[in-house]
Amino acid sequence: MNAPLRTESPELAPQSADPLDHLADVLFHKMGTDGVYARTALYEDVVERLAALITRHRDDGTEVMRFPPVMNRAQLEKSGYLKSFPNLLGCVCGLHGTEREINAAVSRFDAGGDWTTSLSPADLVLSPAACYPVYPIAAARGPLPAGGLRFDVAADCFRREPSRHLDRLQSFRMREYVCIGTADDVSDFRERWMVRAQQIARDLGLSFRVDYASDPFFGRVGQMKAVSQKQQSLKFELLVPLRSEEKPTACMSFNYHQAHFGTTWGIKDADGEPAHTGCVAFGMDRLAVAMFHTHGTNLDAWSAKVRELLGLPAHAIADAHIEGWR
Ligand code: 5GP
Ligand code: ZN
Repeated sequence: MNAPLRTESPELAPQSADPLDHLADVLFHKMGTDGVYARTALYEDVVERLAALITRHRDDGTEVMRFPPVMNRAQLEKSGYLKSFPNLLGCVCGLHGTEREINAAVSRFDAGGDWTTSLSPADLVLSPAACYPVYPIAAARGPLPAGGLRFDVAADCFRREPSRHLDRLQSFRMREYVCIGTADDVSDFRERWMVRAQQIARDLGLSFRVDYASDPFFGRVGQMKAVSQKQQSLKFELLVPLRSEEKPTACMSFNYHQAHFGTTWGIKDADGEPAHTGCVAFGMDRLAVAMFHTHGTNLDAWSAKVRELLGLPAHAIADAHIEGWR
């Protein structure tokens, strides 16, 4: 049913209310830019518990690496990022001139002018996904062992897409399991994780569906890449209906890169063929927002099952009471 019409003038109406807006005050503190937020203790606690849950599902023999929020610019260029998502990339810039030039830039700012015109790019970009740095590291180790390699990686990621929506951040945490091996190794890995990830989402009490997906490739050529990615089933997403069933939010993705990174970095499988790679990515911030949206902002009211899964202490009295009704 539609809400009754309000008679007040449009200026007084709340600005483009979004179904997730009610979470903002409890989960985040504003920092002056859309999509970049300080996180409350309540929120961060749930992010950490989700991370621990994902760790518990890690395959044996997986090597853990944690990456900083920046990575080598040449490595990302070589990975082909500029061909696919140039519009999303954030690049680190600095005042790299002489003392005189740097002082001139600062003086310009002091006089009310623009200091940023003196910036020049550093050899760093903000990592747009957690797995990019792992491929050159793996390549440096020589041919893969039989069965390939598995990594558990994580990074603070940046994508330049400002939005007021709480599930579209510019700076967000990504956790990934990565498989580097033969096409069969990667296919087994991805299928196993698609099953396991759905069980995790079910255990967390989230509504979801898994569907074919494509990345938001830039421009008209990008649209063709997106069609081909879907046709070849290279990407699936676990979608949670946060603001609507029609436009659900991707909280995890299951990606098959074929031999792209293997060829780019010269990674060879045990038979000397270019390695295939795949990754399963967990959007930690989206998963946390999904949990609060689904179960509310009062952790005491979350079900005993979900609380136990996340290692939250059982609520003794309330649960004893509820158990009696089952
Ligand atoms: P992908 O590389 O598949 O685009 O992203 C991997 C995962 O990172 C997504 O499934 C999603 O959970 C998370 N992610 C991607 N973009 C954003 C974003 O703008 N905000 C947040 N919070 N998470 C994102
Ligand atoms: Zn990845």
